[in-house]
Amino acid sequence: MMDVPLTLAMIADHAERWCGGVEIVTRKPDRSLARTTWGATLGRARQLARALIAAGMRKGDRVATLMWNSAAHVEAYFGIPLAGAVLHTLNLRLHPEEIAYIASDAKDRVVIVDDCLLPLLDKVIAAGARFERVLVVGEVPAGRDSYDAFVAGGDAAAKLPAIGEYDELGTCYTSGTTGRPKGVIYTHRSSVLHTLVAALPDSLGLSRNDTLLPVVPMFHVNAWGLPYVAAMLGTRLVLPGPFLDAPSLLDLITGERVTIAAGVPTIWIAIRDAMDAEPERWQLWPGLRMIVGGSAAPEQLIRDFDRLGMTIVHAWGMTETSPIGLVSRLTPEVAASNDVALKYRLRAKQGLVPPLVDLRVRDEAGHDVPRDDRTTGEVLVRGPWIAAGYVGGHQPERWTDDGYFRTGDVARVDDRGYVQLVDRMTDLIKSGGEWIASAELENALMGHPAVSEAAVIGVPHPKWSERPMAVVVLKPNAASRAASLEGDLRTWIAARFPKFWVPDAFVFVEVIPRTSAGKFKKTELREQYRSWTW
Ligand code: AMP
Repeated sequence: MMDVPLTLAMIADHAERWCGGVEIVTRKPDRSLARTTWGATLGRARQLARALIAAGMRKGDRVATLMWNSAAHVEAYFGIPLAGAVLHTLNLRLHPEEIAYIASDAKDRVVIVDDCLLPLLDKVIAAGARFERVLVVGEVPAGRDSYDAFVAGGDAAAKLPAIGEYDELGTCYTSGTTGRPKGVIYTHRSSVLHTLVAALPDSLGLSRNDTLLPVVPMFHVNAWGLPYVAAMLGTRLVLPGPFLDAPSLLDLITGERVTIAAGVPTIWIAIRDAMDAEPERWQLWPGLRMIVGGSAAPEQLIRDFDRLGMTIVHAWGMTETSPIGLVSRLTPEVAASNDVALKYRLRAKQGLVPPLVDLRVRDEAGHDVPRDDRTTGEVLVRGPWIAAGYVGGHQPERWTDDGYFRTGDVARVDDRGYVQLVDRMTDLIKSGGEWIASAELENALMGHPAVSEAAVIGVPHPKWSERPMAVVVLKPNAASRAASLEGDLRTWIAARFPKFWVPDAFVFVEVIPRTSAGKFKKTELREQYRSWTW
């Protein structure tokens, strides 16, 4: 067989040559919709690559982006790696000092920034980040360099460098709830293999017939690799720019005939509540699917969206796993059964292991746990798109002697092979020597008809060492009944879990703080309620 390196250039060539006319739509910061094509976008990506080389970028040099999801960001996704440089997507939701730390740790030489994010970039630079060049997309203030002019300056005749499949393609930093953020490097090979498997029908299941809306930001684990999947298949792309509120997303989904969308549960909780509040406002297209991951999709959310005509596909992954590690699809036996409750239970699990991922759930002694749906252990993973280490060699203890990455997630496996996450090891609550899984309590609470969102944390307790506290956001129509609902919620939990799992305190709030990736920020809640008097 021919020895053809697996690189992004193959995906870009294919998309440009065979799917060049397929549209990419972006909502711009002024809310207007800009339309371009895969052909034009990849043509500009090559121009960007040539301009970067002319500006002195060499193999392995880091080029950062500080951008929302847009066609220009897609150009960077391809142009930077095609130059042999490394795409570094900076997370604009982090604190400027943290972004500055990450940009310095990665040694980013150039940054491409959306005009609306320049005030943030200035803070990042004031916090110590040093870039040789700042390229501004959109309106360019006096004294700044224009991204468009930079791209136009690339020598159209210049040859792009040959890329090896083990060359670095991109880097993402984990949002890390403990310690400093850590960098993960993706190679061309790991990204191509991840793209192939992510696209499969039993994985994320995309096609050229789809219109994809990645709500998951392109600065979070490469938008779960979806821009590369879309290019490989020639899928039409709709990009939301900075507007991630429920009405803006629903306008885009209906107006642009989106068939598949992807994002964290908090986005979909807001969308469900908006649709329930105004049932007549949005007419959805039949067959709309949503890939939901990043934190657990509560079973009630899956049921609610079935009612609204949208199908949730639940998936699990991490920055270190590129991210696809589990996808919950029904096996043929389950799909054929009439047991509706079973189907929902399995769809709410994190799912089945995709091809080429070697996933184990091991107990403390290092043995695979039995498939009994009871015994728990830590999820370990190995495979061609799983990180082999962090930039700078931090935390080598996260890898086992036999080459698996320790995820820090605790799970159990049922006899059908479905993996269900119980909790993050750091979120487990230890009460009187027994473990309580906060994530399971959250999912149950979010199944109560009055609850919109719930986060459960362990709070120090003089007798039990820790006791669970539930921080709850009620649905708008239940908000006035908080005082009378507490007893109801206790009974709801007591009916489903051991008695000692019932939270000792219920706190009703208007919002739960979010991490930069839109997950519940439990570190902040733990800090806030640390000195709670029981
Ligand atoms: P990140 O690297 O920021 O994407 O975070 C990865 C972590 O998010 C995982 O280790 C899990 O703890 C959590 N996570 C991702 N997907 C899910 C899911 N479907 N259900 C529960 N937790 C999830």
